[in-house]
Amino acid sequence: MRFASLGSGSEGNGLVVEAGTTRVLVDCGFGVRDTVARLARLGLAPGDLTAILVTHEHSDHIGGVPAFAARYAIPVWATFGTLSVVAERFEGMTHVYGFDSHERFALGGLEIVPVAVPHDAREPVQYVIGDGARRVGILTDLGVSTLHVEDCLTGCNALVLECNHDPDMLENGSYSWPLKRRIASRLGHLDNGTAAALLARLDNSKLVHIFAAHLSRENNTRELARVALAGALGCAQEWIGIAGQDEGFDWRDL
Ligand SMILES: [Zn+2]
Ligand SMILES: [Zn+2]
Repeated sequence: MRFASLGSGSEGNGLVVEAGTTRVLVDCGFGVRDTVARLARLGLAPGDLTAILVTHEHSDHIGGVPAFAARYAIPVWATFGTLSVVAERFEGMTHVYGFDSHERFALGGLEIVPVAVPHDAREPVQYVIGDGARRVGILTDLGVSTLHVEDCLTGCNALVLECNHDPDMLENGSYSWPLKRRIASRLGHLDNGTAAALLARLDNSKLVHIFAAHLSRENNTRELARVALAGALGCAQEWIGIAGQDEGFDWRDL
């Protein structure tokens, strides 16, 4: 099993998880041509994808999905709540499937565990994806942690964890007051300290890869995110990977 990122941040997200010949793309916030180029960096063609899993209807996650899925006939999976607010964008497409945010399902050789999260969308989820032996936890776009989130994420072999902003940088930055309030709210995005506190509450004894993701270009730095997560794990900062907006990260084996 292995995983890689096409890029992460408010301008677009995409992450591939592979086990054997099953490959799922979690979210696609990039245009068709850009997505094809980002997949090619990982040695993949669109036809190599088994399915696209959507987390929620915000454009940095779903923006590229309808056109890409239609162009290459890739099945799409999203919660019934997400589908209810984007139905017209998938009109005429036959391979669009709904699921409940608390029900796990299988796609080929992968088990998909949706994780319901507090975020300002209709029925947003994140995912823990496993092959029966190992699991990667993907957790971005949530305002606060919950016991349910931590129950799902504990004991993973790899984590991709939102470190959206530094609270002081957000507070003193140029964003409008309503936008600042939205980002910092319970239905917004995790700041570095909240992400670190969440991480510290998980069983990390099997963890071999961790990436900070969905970093704000304006309200965070890679250094601050690394310091926060390394502090929670008691490890060297170099051990904390970054899922960058432009480059994502290359394949990591599990
Ligand atoms: Zn997002
Ligand atoms: Zn979002």
